[in-house]
Amino acid sequence: MSQLNFDQDERFDFDDNFPSLAALAKYEPTIVERVRKSWEDERHFVREHLAPLVLSEDLQHAQNPDHISWEMLRLAGRHGRLVQYIPGFMGGKGNSLGISMMVNLEEQASVDCAFCGMMGGHGLGLAAVFMSLNLGVLRRVADRIAEHQNDEKPYVIDCAITEPTAGTDVEEVELYPKARLMCQAKHASGGAVLNGRKVFISTGHMATDHIVIMPFDQKNAENTMGCFLVSNGTPGFSLGRMERKMGQRAGSASELIFDNCLVPEENILLAQEQFPEEKFKQQFKLVLHGVLGITRTAVGAWSTGTARGAFDRALYLAKRIKYKGRTLIHQQWAQAFLTNMHINVMMARGAYLNSQFVLMRGFERIPLVIGFPSWMNDSAILYWLFRQNWYRKFLGSRWMHGQIMDYVRSSISEDQDARVQQMSSLAKVVGSDMAMENCQLATEFLGQAGLRHDQGVEKIFRDAKLLQIFEGTNQLNRLNIFTHYLARHIPGVEVF
Ligand SMILES: Cc1cc2nc3c(=O)[nH]c(=O)nc-3n(C[C@H](O)[C@H](O)[C@H](O)COP(=O)(O)OP(=O)(O)OC[C@H]3O[C@@H](n4cnc5c(N)ncnc54)[C@H](O)[C@@H]3O)c2cc1C
Repeated sequence: MSQLNFDQDERFDFDDNFPSLAALAKYEPTIVERVRKSWEDERHFVREHLAPLVLSEDLQHAQNPDHISWEMLRLAGRHGRLVQYIPGFMGGKGNSLGISMMVNLEEQASVDCAFCGMMGGHGLGLAAVFMSLNLGVLRRVADRIAEHQNDEKPYVIDCAITEPTAGTDVEEVELYPKARLMCQAKHASGGAVLNGRKVFISTGHMATDHIVIMPFDQKNAENTMGCFLVSNGTPGFSLGRMERKMGQRAGSASELIFDNCLVPEENILLAQEQFPEEKFKQQFKLVLHGVLGITRTAVGAWSTGTARGAFDRALYLAKRIKYKGRTLIHQQWAQAFLTNMHINVMMARGAYLNSQFVLMRGFERIPLVIGFPSWMNDSAILYWLFRQNWYRKFLGSRWMHGQIMDYVRSSISEDQDARVQQMSSLAKVVGSDMAMENCQLATEFLGQAGLRHDQGVEKIFRDAKLLQIFEGTNQLNRLNIFTHYLARHIPGVEVF
């Protein structure tokens, strides 16, 4: 008799299928209340302060492609957006890089996808500093952000990975051997010398310091990667051209040029070679996976907000535009359009929240990701301690760096790392595809109103397309899901 058969290996376990349920037990009890407060604050900020600037900034970029959105950055600085995810004892607001950041990003993007692009460069830089686990540099960067947030040109950082001949191939450690890298660092007395060019670096022309990732040996990049902080004005470093891109114009996409640029020892955040022991061999891979896990989930949340922005505009206009004597909202076909857009938002939100739960599970021993408990975040003793020179030196010491790396590495299991990889890629792909689909639906639905700059949808359409490209193209992220999820349960399958 015929019957259905199953391969043992193809059964995914409970954690794989229900990551949000598996994460619930790990929640700090006050977290929902803290997330709600931070979200209410975000909603007020974007609707009251950001919204009036959105269309006029975009127009200024159309009229002058070299325009830099300092006004938006000042707004972000004045309203504490640059210190949002820095712990309270380091002078920040202490919202977690996890769940708070994700729901706040959705809220920001629902009003301006491009504002998230501007903040995204800075956020990516911060994520790289956090995940390099170099507390000495983290302390210095956090200080500068807090000190200069009210300046005419607030202090922000960026993160430079992409090169003219290597984009997708430097997004994944596994692809490094195939990458045609042109950047290389060399050891030198007192630090390292950098050479090469980075391109499409978000916030490059706004940043004061740049977090740069390049190998010491191009032919053995996966084992010799380094992460460096390069300040404006360093001899051998210069800014090149600013890309003229179709959307997300508020955030510059910049070329960074390194021509025998000497980086002092204290600005080397991480050099794999410094930690030759076997236990640290995979450290860089883990750091990059951690950064990508956070940033891809963040792009999922940002994309969800963008999908919602298109829906919000369509709904707003549907209540005002008349068709055959009745407003659109009262037409059945219009209601079906709007419902489809709403479903897309809910699917995208489900994907990034699930990914966020997996992150919390994967990084449950890392408070920067899951959120510091209040007693730690608001601790006056820690605040005092972080201001003492001897403590800073201690934090920046090689020994301390090694201890922290060891702690983090031992906190993340291979299974959790794989789940973070697949779920964050999934959040990114679903979110950005839904954002594009909602823009398509909104323009179809609204007729001429959808094409006019002053109604907002046309701008969201141009902004949304970019979401499918960065943090790994959606094609690459699809392959990533196969490699880190499906392939684990298909013995012997060949993956890239
Ligand atoms: C607005 C914006 C902001 C950005 N900000 C930053 C930033 O702050 N920092 C930074 O470092 N970079 C940044 N980037 C660069 C971004 O990460 C790259 O554009 C992205 O990784 C894709 O690389 P690429 O453009 O070189 O395309 P390519 O890698 O040349 O890819 C071209 C095509 O080939 C496909 N492809 C390539 N390799 C593979 C493969 N192995 N398997 C399957 N398909 C493949 C891709 O999916 C794509 O369709 C930004 C890009 C944009 C658009």
